Amino acid sequence: MTDLITPEPFTPEYETEEPVLYEVRDGVAWVTMNRTSFNNAQNGQMTYALDDAFMRATNDDAVKCIVLAGNGKHFSAGHDIGTPGRDLLKQFDNRLMVPPHVTRPGAELLYTREQEQYLGMCRRWRDIAKPTVAMVQGACIAGGLMLAWVCDFIIASEDAFFQDPVVRMGIPGVEYFAHAFELPPRIAKEFLLLGERMPAQRAEQFGMVNKIVPRDQLLETTTAIAAKLAAQPRLGVWLTKQAVNHVEELRGKRSAMDAVFHMHHFAHAQNDLTSDNSLGGLDAKSMAAANKKQASEG
Ligand code: ZN
Repeated sequence: MTDLITPEPFTPEYETEEPVLYEVRDGVAWVTMNRTSFNNAQNGQMTYALDDAFMRATNDDAVKCIVLAGNGKHFSAGHDIGTPGRDLLKQFDNRLMVPPHVTRPGAELLYTREQEQYLGMCRRWRDIAKPTVAMVQGACIAGGLMLAWVCDFIIASEDAFFQDPVVRMGIPGVEYFAHAFELPPRIAKEFLLLGERMPAQRAEQFGMVNKIVPRDQLLETTTAIAAKLAAQPRLGVWLTKQAVNHVEELRGKRSAMDAVFHMHHFAHAQNDLTSDNSLGGLDAKSMAAANKKQASEG
């Protein structure tokens, strides 16, 4: 029997102490991912910085709307699966009544971490009592989808695309399984089973994106929409957001996510048992290579 805990090959080397920037302008909090050298890959450091930023915006009465953005060419390359700042085995102060993950044996380690850092955090952010807007350019891949999906609006540039290729790791979609709520079932199957890029223009057809604009108008358009949201009555906006979120719950979103989260973790455990790696031996490099191969095969 191999060691069931996936060993960390190195301790994290953070390239920045500020993976998330925070600024309030005209009643709008701009929360900006800022790991540009790694296309905003989301490590634990960034996850807790995002949570801090959202908490700060929630507690500030001067903030009426929150925009989530990503600096650089791409909105998000997804969860960090291979930068020097990958911090899988670093213990942060948990926010969600979940125990520390790093001391847990076998599959419990990742299960505990992802309950806290992925599923739990995303649900928490989705229920922020203020309107949220994701401003998406370039890639929005896997873990990046979770960040865009928890926002109330998604404004995308013409070059934006969405992708969840984790079926290649034997995994049924990322941890926050909103795929079949964001997309019609047959399209969700196509999205997941083929794992191909979905251009923003196609995503808009299914209502996954609110608006698409040329890249050079993305900031201006998002600013204008955020300003409109910020001008609405605070409680009315909160209640209205809750009303629609509640309809999603009545359609089974939460229980569907709970069920699929456990399938996701069965897949991680199976990978660990068969390849001694919870991602089935795939990393950012091999995922990119597989992407290229798939694209060239049309
Ligand atoms: Zn996972």
